Amino acid sequence: MLTDPPARPDTIASDFSNLVVVIAQTGDEWSTTGRLVQHYILPLLRKHNIRLVEVARKGPTKKDGIAVLQDTRQPYRLHLDGVYKLSRENRVTGTMPQLGGVRKCSQKAKGAPQDAWRANEFGDRPYIHAIGFNVHEGTRITRDSAYSMGGQRIPTYPIYDWGWSRQDCLDYLYRKLGVAWPKSCCRHCPYAGNKSGWPEQLARFAALPTEAAQHIIDEYVCLALNPRSGLFGPGKSLITRLRRDQVTEPIALAVNRMKTMPWAIYRVRRLYYAPANAARSVDSVLLGGHRTVNTALTEVSRLVDISLTKNEEIAGAPTRDGDRDTHPRLWLRRRGDGTYPTQEEFYTVAPAQAQDKELDSFADAWTDHTDEPLAWLERRVDTAVAVVQQALIEGQCRSNAA
Ligand code: SF4
Repeated sequence: MLTDPPARPDTIASDFSNLVVVIAQTGDEWSTTGRLVQHYILPLLRKHNIRLVEVARKGPTKKDGIAVLQDTRQPYRLHLDGVYKLSRENRVTGTMPQLGGVRKCSQKAKGAPQDAWRANEFGDRPYIHAIGFNVHEGTRITRDSAYSMGGQRIPTYPIYDWGWSRQDCLDYLYRKLGVAWPKSCCRHCPYAGNKSGWPEQLARFAALPTEAAQHIIDEYVCLALNPRSGLFGPGKSLITRLRRDQVTEPIALAVNRMKTMPWAIYRVRRLYYAPANAARSVDSVLLGGHRTVNTALTEVSRLVDISLTKNEEIAGAPTRDGDRDTHPRLWLRRRGDGTYPTQEEFYTVAPAQAQDKELDSFADAWTDHTDEPLAWLERRVDTAVAVVQQALIEGQCRSNAA
């Protein structure tokens, strides 16, 4: 409609005075997308004096509120860093955005801040909400159109109505602007790993290794806490995909960065009530440098006489070319299959960026389900960790005194 005026629907005023373009920043968009928008789109908004509102959430929960990063008819730049990044929330919880389900990441980082802004701006007034789903995104449209807020929100899907596919949109942009436009997405988006999206995403990992490296560390920690949590599904990690496709620079950067980070021995417990329904507890029980923490876990394993496992199969991984679990683990209990509730408990090592977390009810629920053999093992490992911790402190004191 900006490059082709007849495409403007009657609901939009000829001077665009009733049109608002709203962008929610997740904080993790590739910088290339931002540069393209700044170079090609913002000049069009300025030329037609169209209002641009850029919002971002200020924290992990709705009550943290949102920030309006800009609200202007003359925009010159975007604020891709947002305020509270989606990746920051994932880092703290030791998780990554997940495939499938209701795209919680998108709801939290995009939907919620936009909804909050609209509620504040429009109050009870009805408004038309145009979203750029393409002709192949009928499922998303079905889901989105159910959200009408009692008739206040009137959704419309112009690209779908035109019958345009994603490729049609890309061709149009190329014809009009002379540029190949990559998909707008988070650097750690699990949906960018499909067959059609991956080549483009891979090219960005290759071109922007410094931007990409932190997400590789994030996935490494996430996999340490849960070997089944590869970014693209169980046994399908980003790290393996990049190695397979020989884009190793971001991995090398991540490995170097991890060597200088504080590490932790994590104690991880899961109480499964059903196959994909577990309460989780994560505790960092010993902190130190990369080598110290790895050696400490080996020593704990020796003291309790339980071998560390490594390179095991990952449940649910593809039989051909699926990942193996590369993280050392000291298992106290493996989950049983088919009988619930069931428990899983292990110790492992990773950069110390995930925060300790468990629900208030976890401790009681865990105790209720813990049998005597597991409780006995827990006491032994607990003691061994304390012994190793004490030895490290004494060693540090000796070297300080020397
Ligand atoms: S781009 Fe991907 S990771 Fe980012 S919010 Fe959307 S679905 Fe989630």
